[in-house]
Amino acid sequence: LPRTGPRSEYYARGDIHTLQPLPWMPGVARIVGDGFVDSQPFDACPRQVLKRALARLAGRGWQLRTGIEPEFFLLQRGAGGTWQPADAHDRLDKPSYDLKSLPRQMDFLHTLHETLSACGLDVLQIDHEDAHGQYELNFAYGEALLSCDRLMLFKQAAHALAEARGMVFSMMPKPFANQPGSGLHFHVSLWQGEHGLFAADGDGSGLSLAGRQFVAGVLAHAPALCALAAPTVNSYKRLTVGESLSGTSWAPATIAHGPNNRTAAVRTLPGRFEWRVPDASANPYLATATLVAAGLDGITRGLDPGPGIGADLFTWTPAQVRAHGLGLLPQSLDEALDALEGDEVVCDALGETLTQEFLRLKRAEWVEFARHVSPWELQRYAAAF
Ligand code: GLU
Ligand code: MG
Repeated sequence: LPRTGPRSEYYARGDIHTLQPLPWMPGVARIVGDGFVDSQPFDACPRQVLKRALARLAGRGWQLRTGIEPEFFLLQRGAGGTWQPADAHDRLDKPSYDLKSLPRQMDFLHTLHETLSACGLDVLQIDHEDAHGQYELNFAYGEALLSCDRLMLFKQAAHALAEARGMVFSMMPKPFANQPGSGLHFHVSLWQGEHGLFAADGDGSGLSLAGRQFVAGVLAHAPALCALAAPTVNSYKRLTVGESLSGTSWAPATIAHGPNNRTAAVRTLPGRFEWRVPDASANPYLATATLVAAGLDGITRGLDPGPGIGADLFTWTPAQVRAHGLGLLPQSLDEALDALEGDEVVCDALGETLTQEFLRLKRAEWVEFARHVSPWELQRYAAAF
């Protein structure tokens, strides 16, 4: 934006439907704003970007619904700049669903549940995830814009409640190299009124033709979508090819879909699919907007996603992946940004202003990372040459 003149002032107009008193801050309410400049919707405001994408669907009489699944860590800062799980006793070899550690965070988790319920979120489940100090909380799916607003409210509440308890709430994608990372899976379905457009005819298993075409679009644009869905340097420590340092991390690396296949980028389910690529550093509005653009492109061009893969893709080598005609997700932020730059459909969804600024900032982030010398490098090289 220019520094002077009518377009120099970026302001928000509150969306009255989002007005919500905050239970953890009595006397304070939150309202979600849409960005405006010079009385016009600001083209680079992420919520406006999503509204534009959803309007394209509405033009066809369609509505997108998403269920966004946040995984997160509860951490504390240790001595000498280290980070560790806030619960020092949380150290099972296989911590998934750890029922002994879960109750130690009951105060936080219970208060979070109560708080979100008071804000109108339908909290469905809470569990201990697959890493030390890692949890997941799920709330009911809904209209796509509302789901993003709800996720942001969840994050605001979780940060505040953790901080009040001397902990740090973290949605960093991969805080610990030897532990699984945090995903932000999206369950995606398309509706015409109350008719689910992704539900297959007949026995209802699998996806309809529109669902398959939408998935094909998401897979065709998967590398560029990564730039929005996994937008940090750290994101690519999660989306790694092959076994991670911690064994199975359940994060995808292969651009593929499969029925109930959690090792693929897209897991298909009756009437919906789960997009497993995003992590919690993503801006949910931009991730959803670009997902819509990719899916619509699949429908418009009548793309075919090919047969669903039933195999465990975590065991496939890159050569096997290629032999099956499949691709891998970008393995670095830099690679994802290259893909974004070359993908007209995804760039169009973001708009010129946002695309250019996003690429500039994210390229700078990559360069800054590349300039740093990590402890791993010192350990490997310092005495070696
Ligand atoms: N934490 C895993 C990820 O990074 C996902 C685990 C799960 O399937 O719930 O995507
Ligand atoms: Mg999970």
